Amino acid sequence: MNLEAHLAPYAAFSSASPGRRFPESTPSSRTEFQRDRDRIIHSTAFRRLEYKTQVFVNHEGDLFRTRLTHSIEVAQIARSIARNLRLNEDLVEAISLAHDLGHTPFGHAGQDALNACMKDYGGFEHNLQSLRVVDELEERYGAFDGLNLTFETREGILKHCSLKNAKKLGDVGRRFIDKKQPTLEAQLANLADEIAYNNHDIDDGLRSGLLTTTQLDDIDFYARHRKEVEASFPGISGRRAIHETIRRMINALVIDLIDTSRARIQDAEVKTVDDVRNSTALIAFSDDMNTEAALLKRFLRDNLYLHYQVNRMTSKARRIVRELFEAFMQEPRLLPPDYQVMQGNEQERLQWQARKVADYIAGMTDRYAMREHRRLFQVDEI
Ligand code: MG
Repeated sequence: MNLEAHLAPYAAFSSASPGRRFPESTPSSRTEFQRDRDRIIHSTAFRRLEYKTQVFVNHEGDLFRTRLTHSIEVAQIARSIARNLRLNEDLVEAISLAHDLGHTPFGHAGQDALNACMKDYGGFEHNLQSLRVVDELEERYGAFDGLNLTFETREGILKHCSLKNAKKLGDVGRRFIDKKQPTLEAQLANLADEIAYNNHDIDDGLRSGLLTTTQLDDIDFYARHRKEVEASFPGISGRRAIHETIRRMINALVIDLIDTSRARIQDAEVKTVDDVRNSTALIAFSDDMNTEAALLKRFLRDNLYLHYQVNRMTSKARRIVRELFEAFMQEPRLLPPDYQVMQGNEQERLQWQARKVADYIAGMTDRYAMREHRRLFQVDEI
């Protein structure tokens, strides 16, 4: 049975995939991309997403987004757009669910701190780490390290990457050197991520009390939809009004992305994935929507991500990551045996040790990192 018969000719077909790094027999009851998605869902790194956060730290409240719920929201948005454009929903879902697997604890604060610690050791970048998780770090199969995913899923996970790193990565790095596009599914997962976090950060920001609806009324995109809600439901309660407003905003972004992308695909006259790779980016918002989204992003940065109460947590998070890194580098014997690097000349050993420490810290959930920090720095904690 051809499970991909309904796709547009420019979609990614798993039957045409360059395949996996370690060849495996074709699955009988699902496509290669479905198999990728299933492997991601069963991975340890995926379960860890439940206790990793983006803006709010896990213990701050039970209702805030975690990286797990964020990834599920990205997959939902990406799939519904994919179906409209007749793109491969399974691939877009696999990429969406895996896109944040390499994130450190404590969101961007954790990533920036770890990157600074790794300055002399090749740096740390969460996209690259997500790829490292699925290529190397997951230990589930007898025949290979990692999840042995298809080229297309790995390519989609590697959203961006420096030229220097691209040269080391082989096939998935190639497009950054050749300046080519990834599949439409990868382009789509990337923008679905933006739709998801911009909107849920507004929701979480309001829920936390760090943002107010009065502040948000300065953003025309929000104010317009909120007025529409109030006109349809006079006297609607605060929480419901927020949800009704946000769902309209998500819908407007989704519809704009579908319409703009459909027109661009038609104009570019792409017939195959190869045409897509040689074209400009085809999954895109309209110019007007890009302007609205940029205003929204700037608002969130100034009013939420840089809010002093958020800064207090991110400052603590940076300190925890930095102090863990320094302690492990000074005394590798504090690490579980698998993460200790004892062989090689001193320079090589240090490089490799730093990478293993980064893997260890990046794999931690927020609460595990806090606990590990207490265990190392407080004598009465075991
Ligand atoms: Mg994301």
